[in-house]
Amino acid sequence: MVHNDFKKYFQWYNIGFVLSLLTFLAQLVCRFPFILTTETIRFVYDSELLKIVYYIILVFSSLSFLYSIKIGVKKTIWAIHGVSISLSLFLNSLPISYTALFNGELTIGLDWLILDFLVTAIIFTPLELFSPKNPNQTKFHYDWKTDLTYFIVFDLSVKFIIMAIRFPAEYFFTNTSLNQLHHTIQAIPYFPQLIMALFIADLFQYFRHSTAHRIPFLWKFHSIHHSPEQIDWLSGSRSHLLDLIFDRSVIFMPIYFLGFSSQVFISYTTIVSLQSVWAHSNSHINLGWLKYVIVTPQYHHWHHAKDKEAHDKNFAVHFPVIDMIFGTYHSLENGFPKQTGIEETDFPKHGYIKQFLYPFKRK
Ligand SMILES: [Zn+2]
Ligand SMILES: [Zn+2]
Repeated sequence: MVHNDFKKYFQWYNIGFVLSLLTFLAQLVCRFPFILTTETIRFVYDSELLKIVYYIILVFSSLSFLYSIKIGVKKTIWAIHGVSISLSLFLNSLPISYTALFNGELTIGLDWLILDFLVTAIIFTPLELFSPKNPNQTKFHYDWKTDLTYFIVFDLSVKFIIMAIRFPAEYFFTNTSLNQLHHTIQAIPYFPQLIMALFIADLFQYFRHSTAHRIPFLWKFHSIHHSPEQIDWLSGSRSHLLDLIFDRSVIFMPIYFLGFSSQVFISYTTIVSLQSVWAHSNSHINLGWLKYVIVTPQYHHWHHAKDKEAHDKNFAVHFPVIDMIFGTYHSLENGFPKQTGIEETDFPKHGYIKQFLYPFKRK
């Protein structure tokens, strides 16, 4: 089964809009490389080649801009699109200073956001096109701009959240008695060590996640993650910032405490972010018996189900066996849930700021 309508799925004028925004952000990266580029990847950029790529994108984006005026999209979108094309064209005509590319330690990583978005889109869009769970759901459904804002905030903040967790972790977990434990853990071969890290982190994630469902105060924050009615790879990053900080603190603490090797640490952080995008994708891909071993989109979509019998089920993000052990496993025999979302009627359906403030509002 493939997507019913490729044209509808993509809406090329919206792609032009997103690309014009990305090009504008990329231009900012080129102008302020010492604060906006990621220190470990900045050396690979070829400014002259990038300039040509930007010009090609801007031609496409300008065509899509003209088309979107013709079909009458919302004025705010139309204005943002036009301004980002104009500013990008202006900035692209200025020379780029290469020397600044190699300064700066603590950076915002705007380049990483652009690359992450493009790579994620390239990996997961074909999955949604060629194996969609819902073949009528488009990429640009009514919630996509809110989800894109979450993606941007998530990407720019996650580096700082992990760093903020690392400092106290290094303070408390670097001492002689724990060094012995760290050596023992690091002596385990790479693959079993990685599985061990994933399993322990998922176990801690399970307890923090089920707690967020049980305690009404925490649910107010976590309900934001459950709010999308149209789930896809982009909506996976929808989480309240405080829920995200709470989650990352709980899952990274055991990782730091046990002192896994740096290769395992890097692999773990990569798997966690890819797994989240994959689990939310609008994808029906059938992995056979593997769906009982690792978390698939079907498994996680049941966690988001509106159906009462599926509430508070499938909390695990890597291994379904954790839910099986604690009695919160929901069967995968009946396909996908019919509806996803939350029951709260006062929940603001759109807008990052409105949803950010929602948990603080008195009922
Ligand atoms: Zn949940
Ligand atoms: Zn989710």
